[in-house]
Amino acid sequence: MKKISTEKTTPQQPKTQPEIGGKKWVEIWSAQCGECFKWRIIPSEEEYEEIRSKFIEDPFVCSKKPGFSCNDKADIEYDKSRTWVIDKPNTPKTPTGFKRRMTLRRNGSKIDCHYKTPNGTKQLRTPTDVSNFLTSYPEYNNGYISVQHFSFITPKIMQDTLPPTSAGAAKD
Ligand SMILES: [Zn+2]
Repeated sequence: MKKISTEKTTPQQPKTQPEIGGKKWVEIWSAQCGECFKWRIIPSEEEYEEIRSKFIEDPFVCSKKPGFSCNDKADIEYDKSRTWVIDKPNTPKTPTGFKRRMTLRRNGSKIDCHYKTPNGTKQLRTPTDVSNFLTSYPEYNNGYISVQHFSFITPKIMQDTLPPTSAGAAKD
C-alpha cells in the first residue's frame, strides 16, 4: 500500500513542497522499492514527480537510484519520527512553469492542493480554475497542456505518524 510518499518532519509538511500555514513542510521525497520494499530517498521534487507519474506501469526499484541496489540498507524507515503522507500513483507531472503546492490543515485532518500559475496571477484550486486559466492565457498551455495535466488529488495522511497533538485533533 505504501508505495510513494512524501514525508515531513515539522508538525506541519508531501510532495510538491507542502506548506503548513504558509510554511514549507515537505522535507524528504521517497519511494518504496517494489522488490525489497525498502524506502529510498529521492533527491529532488522533479525526480520524485517523474517516478510518481508512471509508478503503476514502471514501478520504482532500488536500482533506479544511481549507485543503489536492494542489497543496500534502507535510506529511511517508515516510522513515527516523521509524519508521512502517501501520494497517489500516476499523478501527472506538474506542467512546466506551474508549481504544485500543498498545505496541511492545522488539525492534521486534510491536505489542500493548489497550483501557482507561471504568471503569478492566481492560484488554481479546481479543474474549473485550470480550464479558465488556460482559456484566458493560451500562451501558457504550450500547445498541449490541458486540465488532464493537473491533479487535485492529495496524498493520504498517515495518521499514525502525526505528532500527538495533531493526531488528537484529527480523531473526530
Ligand atoms: Zn529494493
